[in-house]
Amino acid sequence: MLSNIRIVLVQTYHPGNIGASARAMKTMGLTDLVLVNPRQFPDLEASRLAAGAEDLVDNARVVGSLAEAVSDCVQVVGASARLRSLPLPHFDEPDAMARGLVDEASHDPVALVFGRERFGLTNDEIRCCSHQVSIPANPDYGILNLSQAVQVLAHELFTAWRRRPDSGYRSPRPAQERQPTREQLGHFQAHLSRVMQRSGFINQPHARTEDQLEALFARAQPSRRELSLLRGLLASLESHLPEA
Ligand code: SAH
Repeated sequence: MLSNIRIVLVQTYHPGNIGASARAMKTMGLTDLVLVNPRQFPDLEASRLAAGAEDLVDNARVVGSLAEAVSDCVQVVGASARLRSLPLPHFDEPDAMARGLVDEASHDPVALVFGRERFGLTNDEIRCCSHQVSIPANPDYGILNLSQAVQVLAHELFTAWRRRPDSGYRSPRPAQERQPTREQLGHFQAHLSRVMQRSGFINQPHARTEDQLEALFARAQPSRRELSLLRGLLASLESHLPEA
């Protein structure tokens, strides 16, 4: 189950932070590390700070974008010290986030995403997330070092896993009740935006309306079945539009 929980580090600047994050993960039973465009990797400093967790560093996958890192995940939580303008569902309490993520991870892959040391996650990257979480901290100085933020949230995940209500076998969820992957949600959003543009509902690309609807669907958390219902509705509306 913990093997279904991926830690994603976006464009990490200091290789030492990659190693220290790997160590933080391993102490809490996490193994799946994905790096999005790290500045310098592989690197001696990363291996040095990983100490006994060098295997995680060696097995880390490097990808070119956050979307690629999380496309198969059903829940993607972005860790951020500050609230952004995108109204995604937000966990104010890391333990609530951890319980939700551990629960989903018993069925499908999920991810916890950490931003750059200097400026965190961009709005486009937050769009790849389904939720956000903040570690409550000193209002005057609440930004943790990257690997320390990984440690705090990994500890919450491990605690939620130890205390999960039924520690035994879980029967698989029926497909229609499962959460869609980020890729399936992305296809839906692209379809919705195509229909909105072709119907003349919006007439400029990247309108704020799209962000607002995206946030609405993120909050609604449609199941796979509900999403395919919506795709069917869009396809039916689309078939009545004049050819572009
Ligand atoms: N200067 C950046 C913070 C970078 S700290 C900014 O203002 O956004 C590097 C990463 O550690 C962040 O992107 C976030 O993923 C994580 N982090 C640090 N402090 C955190 C906190 N209080 N809550 C949640 N995540 C935090």
